Amino acid sequence: MRSGAASLLKAAVGRGKVDTSKAPAWWVSRSDETERLLRSLPGVEVFEIGRSAGGRPILAAAWGAREDLPNRTCGSLSSALSGGSASAFYGQGKRERQGLLFLGNAHGIEFEGTVAALNALNVIARGTDLRGRRWPILREYGRKLRFVVIPHFNVDGRVRHDIHRHFLNLDVEEYRRISQGDLKSGEKLVWPKSKLTWPIPPEAVEVMGGYFNDNGVNLVYDTGLAADPQPETTALTRFLRREMPDGVILSHSNNGSLVCEHASFIPEHFRMWLQAFSAVAGSACRYKGYRKFGVAQAAHGYAGQILYQGDVIYHTCGALPLLVEFPCGYQNVPDTLDELLDISMTVIQEIVRFGVEYRFRPREKGRE
Ligand SMILES: [Zn+2]
Repeated sequence: MRSGAASLLKAAVGRGKVDTSKAPAWWVSRSDETERLLRSLPGVEVFEIGRSAGGRPILAAAWGAREDLPNRTCGSLSSALSGGSASAFYGQGKRERQGLLFLGNAHGIEFEGTVAALNALNVIARGTDLRGRRWPILREYGRKLRFVVIPHFNVDGRVRHDIHRHFLNLDVEEYRRISQGDLKSGEKLVWPKSKLTWPIPPEAVEVMGGYFNDNGVNLVYDTGLAADPQPETTALTRFLRREMPDGVILSHSNNGSLVCEHASFIPEHFRMWLQAFSAVAGSACRYKGYRKFGVAQAAHGYAGQILYQGDVIYHTCGALPLLVEFPCGYQNVPDTLDELLDISMTVIQEIVRFGVEYRFRPREKGRE
């Protein structure tokens, strides 16, 4: 246990150091803190969906009962659609209580969204966030859902770097090293060129970046097409088939792009629907005066049309995959954990509200 140890690293703005090991008690980001919180929440069921490459439990926590629609006859979405009936896959009728899954920390040091999801779950279960602030809209709408949080999907990457609790105002090179890692040869792994090696050979690293699981795999590209899936991916896809969420938030962190356009191989009406969520979440942040308020404005992410975890999620369970890049305080904007949390919780709140009012999965015209 390294609690108490300081982690003084170079600051991005201004001289001096940032202590990435220190954060207030309401900023819950480590897997041990997360589990303690989840097990204390009334009405929240905590369970394991599987184990990581490093053998660590991948926990999930659920609020609200899962509603299973009747008369599902088809375990494959594409088969159901090809046969002319989406409801053969989803079941007949409309859920009274939709399911929203928060998939956190796929990259092990990108946990800002997880902090917000845990605070959101606290609002739903107890009425306030962990700072004691009320979020009446989030509470009202959140309680209409089955809300499932997987706080640390890449629990290996998180635990290997669990000395760090935040990256506010951290120097870019320090962040690179923690996120991507260094090789024993002296080579520094730099995003996105580091993606040219997959997996990162564990025996070749001096420091394995938090991006990767203990096998050196970047899980967002672990589709099962190139190689046998990692245990995390198998656990997730099995869980998705059982759980059948209507929407999935894929939580990442960067400079705060918010709801992004990543999902190349999903139907056009799903892509259009993603854009609506992006506009609603980004504009809500803008109108509140926050310093991050992005709305997706390109057809694809930086890499163009590539197969991504969000596509896999859609084709596995038919959910709308919402990729969100939460802000990590890059270059000290924003410059407080309070504002980081406010922005991230607002994004979650707006996704929840819009999804409850308009539904997460767009309607299947004439096929449902
Ligand atoms: Zn990421």
